[in-house]
Amino acid sequence: YLSISHLQKSFNDLLALNDISLEIEKGEFICFLGPSGCGKTTLLRTICGLESQDSGSIIQDSVDISRLSAEKRDFGIVFQSYALFPNLSVFDNIAFGLVNQRRPKQEITDKVNELLSLTGLQEHAQKYPSQLSGGQQQRVALCRALAMEPGLLLLDEPLSALDAKIREHLRREICRIHRKLGLTTIMVTHDQTEAMTMADRIVVMNAGRIEHVGTPEEIYLQPASAFVADFIGTSN
Ligand code: ATP
Repeated sequence: YLSISHLQKSFNDLLALNDISLEIEKGEFICFLGPSGCGKTTLLRTICGLESQDSGSIIQDSVDISRLSAEKRDFGIVFQSYALFPNLSVFDNIAFGLVNQRRPKQEITDKVNELLSLTGLQEHAQKYPSQLSGGQQQRVALCRALAMEPGLLLLDEPLSALDAKIREHLRREICRIHRKLGLTTIMVTHDQTEAMTMADRIVVMNAGRIEHVGTPEEIYLQPASAFVADFIGTSN
């Protein structure tokens, strides 16, 4: 579904992405895992066009999207900081993209209600983001990303700002939603447990390179390098 070949990206003299090649199947849940500064966020941002690569290609669903602007690419994204519109209600935050596309009013209402019920937020529809907990705000951000029915869901450290208990709850919820929708999903995380419990396959990165791609079991039982073994063995 997503085919990344020989992706290269520098910031001045720093090679943030060094010859990244990766194939992702439709419906897979992929985690980019690695220490701070290894390039996982840059890779995610390059995939969706928020960052441009120096060379290499990205093919999504047989279309070369390498040179398309972010607006023209088919993805939904959730950031660590939620990035909700503070002056819009939960309902309007989720509806935002659909309203911009001038979709019929009934279709928008139906879609937003479906997402509110998927994430258990029905009774919060008319509240404002500041009236919600961090976990609830992140659910709204997830609904907003899903509203446009993207082909690819990108999650950039979506759980890092939350307390341990809420984090675990939302972890399970994201997995449930992923199973239900079967949406190709890429999540950036520095948390080994998160990656091991959520991902179909994990991409372990180090210093701009991919060290190992495999299922959690493969990575745990047969780490490709001492770095992978060390990193997976280190708990947060
Ligand atoms: P973290 O978990 O800390 O966000 P990361 O693995 O996501 O780390 P990136 O944010 O992708 O790492 O950064 C990779 C490298 O590129 C880092 O050394 C970072 O300092 C550098 N970098 C990222 N964005 C920029 C930028 N806009 N300008 C200059 N350097 C950058």
